[in-house]
Amino acid sequence: MDLSVVIPVYNEEANLPALYDRLRNVIESMDLPGSHEFIFVNDGSYDQSLALLRLLASRDERVRYLDFSRNFGHQIAVTAGLDRAQGEAVVIIDADLQDPPELLPQLYQKLQEGYEVVYAKRRSRAGESAAKRLTAKIFYRLLARITHISIPVDTGDFRIISRKVVLALRQMPEQNKFIRGQISWIGYRQGCLEYDRIERTGGATGYTYRKMVRFALDGITAFSDLPLRIATISGFAVSGIAFLVMLYTLYARFVTRDYQPGWASLMISILFLGGVQLIAVGIIGEYIARLSANVRQRPLYIVSETNTTSPTEDPA
Ligand code: UDP
Ligand code: MG
Repeated sequence: MDLSVVIPVYNEEANLPALYDRLRNVIESMDLPGSHEFIFVNDGSYDQSLALLRLLASRDERVRYLDFSRNFGHQIAVTAGLDRAQGEAVVIIDADLQDPPELLPQLYQKLQEGYEVVYAKRRSRAGESAAKRLTAKIFYRLLARITHISIPVDTGDFRIISRKVVLALRQMPEQNKFIRGQISWIGYRQGCLEYDRIERTGGATGYTYRKMVRFALDGITAFSDLPLRIATISGFAVSGIAFLVMLYTLYARFVTRDYQPGWASLMISILFLGGVQLIAVGIIGEYIARLSANVRQRPLYIVSETNTTSPTEDPA
């Protein structure tokens, strides 16, 4: 099989018919010698998405779908699709038509030129709030600075990857998925194509602020230990300052005997130290929470219905 298209779906009933039509037209126009498939992963939608997928699957045997038992999140939906993808090349694309399917031929073309990953980089983002654009911009730049691997900035999961990369991803069992980071970590020759991101065609974003914060923390904790190091360093710095202040206090008390009952300084140092300690404990907690999630070894997702065969357990 030449090409698999993996599409995470969360309440996308308004977009699925148009998405399917456009994907089909684009792929058929590519004249691939082999076969292709569309893998839709329904991530616990509560609208008519599943019914639509069943209908598409009954009419078109290239349509495969997986239905999760509940909402597991975008990254896990993509992972599930990758687990079942059979193509030599796999495209990951959003269901809301913000990633234009018409870019597929170019992505595929570039992959054939000897890349293992070709990601689509957003030249612009229309129809997203200024707050979202700003937080995304800051987040990607921050992440690029604090991780050892180079995660391209302003890039979502819209990309094409080769089978080699898919097999490598299947060997990464982490629970807190941050796929774009994992793909950067895997390495090989990676290229990029620029495009203009348009507004979501129908429906509403499934990414609440809560999900975005969690996603951001997953990305940072999975690929950087810098926050832990900052906690340690600020601990040392604060202790150092406290030690100097202590010396000064002793000096003032016993040598110059020029001292005031120091309520203000006492309060400030207690509050400051308390704050620093809580932050440090919180940072450590973020890492421990992820450690314990991985130790539990739960399956990443539960499938309640599918017309795909179970994941192909290729040895890499
Ligand atoms: N999505 C998902 N599970 C979720 C949230 C989103 O599978 O919990 C899907 C959604 O259907 C879309 C893609 O992930 O195909 C990107 O989500 P969305 O467009 O809501 O994110 P945004 O573009 O606003 O960042
Ligand atoms: Mg979107």
